Amino acid sequence: MSQDFRPLGNARLRRARFIGRPNRFLILGRLRSGELIEAFLPNPGRMDEMLFPDTELTVVRATPSATRRTEWTCVGLEREGEPILLDTHRTNAVARHLIETRRIPSLKGWRIAGAEVTVGHSRFDFLLERGRQRLWLEVKSCTLFGNGSAMFPDAVTERGRRHLEELAHLRQSGAARPVVLFVVHSLRPRWFLPDYHTDLAFSHTFLDVRPDVRVLPVAVGWTRQLSLRQETRLLPIPWAHLRREAKDRGAYVLLLRLPEARQLKIGRLGEFHLAAGWYLYIGSAMGGLDARLRRHVRRRKRLHWHIDYLHQAAVEVVPLPIRSSKRQECELAADVAGLYGLAVCRFGASDCTCPGHLFHSGASSPLDDPAFHSLLHRYRMPIPV
Ligand SMILES: [Zn+2]
Repeated sequence: MSQDFRPLGNARLRRARFIGRPNRFLILGRLRSGELIEAFLPNPGRMDEMLFPDTELTVVRATPSATRRTEWTCVGLEREGEPILLDTHRTNAVARHLIETRRIPSLKGWRIAGAEVTVGHSRFDFLLERGRQRLWLEVKSCTLFGNGSAMFPDAVTERGRRHLEELAHLRQSGAARPVVLFVVHSLRPRWFLPDYHTDLAFSHTFLDVRPDVRVLPVAVGWTRQLSLRQETRLLPIPWAHLRREAKDRGAYVLLLRLPEARQLKIGRLGEFHLAAGWYLYIGSAMGGLDARLRRHVRRRKRLHWHIDYLHQAAVEVVPLPIRSSKRQECELAADVAGLYGLAVCRFGASDCTCPGHLFHSGASSPLDDPAFHSLLHRYRMPIPV
């Protein structure tokens, strides 16, 4: 029956604690027995905000094969008490189930006529039919959510952007309006948006194809046994909010790592002793945010801002844009000050009254800190107005 739909079949689920993620597709964990395991992660997403030390993972033993190095697959995790399916290889099975059991109201009456259908140079997940009408449907898996919002993608996806354009072309060929079905793996979000902070080009295409492509973000929930819950919800898209905010402007956090302690001259501010570890610099560009971030990452440049001096000694630089029509730089700096210590007085604060815009988080990256992710979500996922 529908409430017993288990995309993993009868696989035996085991629990493990997250230890680390040496690369995008590999997870290190510890089973309850104490055994250390390596697990394949069938999900290309970033998921920084879900994988912390001790996060409870759900793993299954993999079918042995000659090409496979890992003995386990990480299929899910528990986030704030909610089980989440991570295995994106199962997303199409979930979508098929939702369509066939008529859980998506606007797709009632359509039946699946084909899967992995090639049209020209593109391939789409499903072809649906209703009488003589045809409809192409593409499925995406969404695991980025927080603060009431679900967002996609969590990393730049030129392929995803092109897929939207190709779907729009199918409409022009006379078929019914094609559908992108976003399967949102949590029942907590209240609305859905493209992640314009991370992928502005995808978000602009998302807006451009609106007349020709129907977007259906469907929130689903999972039990601890990774059975699909009965409840599903269609999430609204705050289009006006998206049109206003998805622009090349806003604030940013720049993460930098100093490999060893250094005595550094910071322009006219003076000379300072800086401890090794991770630094957070808060800035903004209310026009040309992307160009500003590209400049921050570039090695060769004329030293102009305080941050340019620190950048010369840093080995890793991670820009995190927070796009917004509001000027939030100093408010953001004040909130970051609640988490980490001020590194240098007046640094990056020549034009404001803040104590400074540079903070030090010590030896560990803010990206490994749940409190930093909640702060980032508060700014990146505001309640749409
Ligand atoms: Zn300030």
